[in-house]
Amino acid sequence: MLQALQQYFFELFETAPLLFRSPGRINIIGEHTDYNGGFVLPAAIEQAAYIAISKRSDNQLHLHAMSLNESIILSIDSLEPIPHAWSNYIAGVADQFIKNNKLVGGFNLVLNSNIPIGSGLSSSAAIECVVAYALNELFDCKMDRLALAHLAQKAEHHFAGVQCGLMDQFASMMGAKDQLIKLDCQSLQYEFIPFNIHHYTLVLFDTNVKHSLAASAYNERREQCEQAVEWISQSVPDIQSLRQVNMPMLAEYVLPKNELIYKRCSFVVNEIQRVESACTALKNGDLIKLGKLMFETHQGLSADYEVSCKELDVLVETVKNIPDVIGARMMGGGFGGCTLNLIQTAAVEKTIHTVQHVYAKTMHTSLPTYIVETANGTSRIA
Ligand code: ADP
Ligand code: MG
Repeated sequence: MLQALQQYFFELFETAPLLFRSPGRINIIGEHTDYNGGFVLPAAIEQAAYIAISKRSDNQLHLHAMSLNESIILSIDSLEPIPHAWSNYIAGVADQFIKNNKLVGGFNLVLNSNIPIGSGLSSSAAIECVVAYALNELFDCKMDRLALAHLAQKAEHHFAGVQCGLMDQFASMMGAKDQLIKLDCQSLQYEFIPFNIHHYTLVLFDTNVKHSLAASAYNERREQCEQAVEWISQSVPDIQSLRQVNMPMLAEYVLPKNELIYKRCSFVVNEIQRVESACTALKNGDLIKLGKLMFETHQGLSADYEVSCKELDVLVETVKNIPDVIGARMMGGGFGGCTLNLIQTAAVEKTIHTVQHVYAKTMHTSLPTYIVETANGTSRIA
């Protein structure tokens, strides 16, 4: 892919580029915990967005997306979001540099990526991060990785219109091979957790669906969590998020008022605890325990938080009957995307075959499958 990228760039712009990459990400456990002040446990993965880039002497952005075979020319003096355009993830970052008074001139850029789009591996954050990292170097802006991750997140807010937390950009920018990042979404402090899964492999099964419920359900869940925090804080001082809440508090202050909200918040409180348990399991080398926690997370997301869907449930139910799969759960916001599976390495091929067969029979569609390995965060390649 790199050679093709370099060559394509040269053909278009007749100059030699700098090359950069930034990875996609998975999240091992800790779902819907970010906006509740809890923990997440992501890792950067091998699949990445790549760009070739060079300065221009004018104020124009000449952008090309190889996988879409589309080009666009923008002026740095009038950057605005364009509804649904792929260029937003690049222009939005350039816009943030300008807003931060980091002088950025025009540039030529060719983008390529092997991160599946819209499957929950954050192909968008990877683009933002690779562009942020490259512009920082190209224009010698001297920002550190953390500042660049924040900047990339703001680009997503303003140009993609997605009010995401920091996890995706943080994982892409800060990731490290064989490490998970335990990120405290309240303080933004983080810790690397060594991730050695020995004879096991992580595999993603892609449902190939994204149900339209996702956005409205997401907002509703956020409101339900906020409502519970408000009720509890009327009696318990200093409660700002579900991070500070435990099950007895939910039973005392939320259950009598609203059973559904109680159920939603039980999931979140337990999920925040599960991230801690997962880190302990990893420190003890207890992968069986980690797998059990993943299954528990899925159960909670499906039954209590109710953000799963038929396709995701079929995939998790199917692997529950396969002893070589020691853990599985839906990953991401819900209503589609991928399941994340922890599978005995020797049985990966056989398992993929079995699950694809079941999925074709029950869901009448194909099941794209990705093997994932952890990787380093954003970097310059050449
Ligand atoms: P994801 O979960 O993958 O981040 P998003 O909807 O947030 O899904 O972002 C996907 C969008 O990112 C695509 O619609 C497209 O605009 C952009 N994108 C991702 N990969 C590429 C690519 N290879 N080339 C051009 N644009 C891309
Ligand atoms: Mg995205």
